[in-house]
Amino acid sequence: AFDFLVVGGGPAGASAAIYGARKGIKTGLVADRFGGQVQDTMAIENFISVKATEGPKLVASLEEHVKDYDVDVMNGQRVKKIIEAQSAGDLITIELESGASLQSRSVLLATGARWREINVPGEQEYRGKGVAYCPHCDGPLFKGKSVAVIGGGNSGIEAAIDLAGIVEHVTVLEFDSSLRADAVLQEKAKTMANIEIITNAQTTEILGNGKRVTAIKYTCRKTNTEHQLTLAGVFVQIGLVPNSQFLHGDLELTSHGEIITQSNGQTSMSGVFAAGDVTDSPYKQIIIAMGSGATSALGAFDHLIRTAQP
Ligand code: FAD
Repeated sequence: AFDFLVVGGGPAGASAAIYGARKGIKTGLVADRFGGQVQDTMAIENFISVKATEGPKLVASLEEHVKDYDVDVMNGQRVKKIIEAQSAGDLITIELESGASLQSRSVLLATGARWREINVPGEQEYRGKGVAYCPHCDGPLFKGKSVAVIGGGNSGIEAAIDLAGIVEHVTVLEFDSSLRADAVLQEKAKTMANIEIITNAQTTEILGNGKRVTAIKYTCRKTNTEHQLTLAGVFVQIGLVPNSQFLHGDLELTSHGEIITQSNGQTSMSGVFAAGDVTDSPYKQIIIAMGSGATSALGAFDHLIRTAQP
């Protein structure tokens, strides 16, 4: 059995595993795909102290760093259930989809999240070539260009306000007849001269020249007419889905499915901690995920030294 078992091999999980192993406790890491969302990221310019890098490069360094420690890495394994310890200090069980199970005195869940996709032609083809999901990450790549934001909820309008300070022009395309964002954000967006908001707009296709995005097509649901906008980028802002389906009913989650954590990463199940994008932490970034992985590993270590083994 492990002392500390990390589920997830993104920046949060990798950071937690290193912090755990450095305490000299028996540490394991089980992940469906080591590297997580960072594997799918092109340019990274906000990982402080590294001016610019690429996702797969950062993943290779993460892996090298983890392998420098005594961490039992089990890659290519999906977790399907977590079972609470029978009594304090007892072992928590993690069941894998392969049918195997693992046991540990403490567990850290760092299963991340994924952006909700719009599923229109061109989205996959131009992902990372004009189709973006993270304004904090990719906004500066569109400096002086025109972009669209799909989605008029809080994240869409926040993205539009954020991008309006960097890019030339932002068009917000909202499917519904009105925006769902908080009134204060809507007011702010309306005061910015380079933001245009179009409601009743159903995005139908993202167009490109084979290398990069060049335009977007949408249908006006009111008049049933087709429209095309020339632009360089499309930010899809229709939600972030936490990878927590396998925890439903076992752990306290927010209405969006995020794991509710205390400031030390503790979840509603004794000995179980969580970190990174799968939690209710307000901002989702690599540097934040790594910090919370470290916090939660220290939280788990604190728990272990205070819990007697039966
Ligand atoms: P993730 O990176 O999502 O990792 C989750 C891990 O859990 C993976 O290993 C996954 O395989 C595993 N997992 C999930 N479910 C299971 C399961 N049931 N069983 C076992 N393992 C499981 N952030 C920045 O700071 N800068 C950027 O430039 C940037 N660009 C981005 C670009 C894109 C396209 C995307 C998608 C995100 C970007 N982000 C960026 C956000 C950043 O990638 C995330 O905030 C960060 O990766 C979160 O780390 P995490 O460890 O919490 O989760």
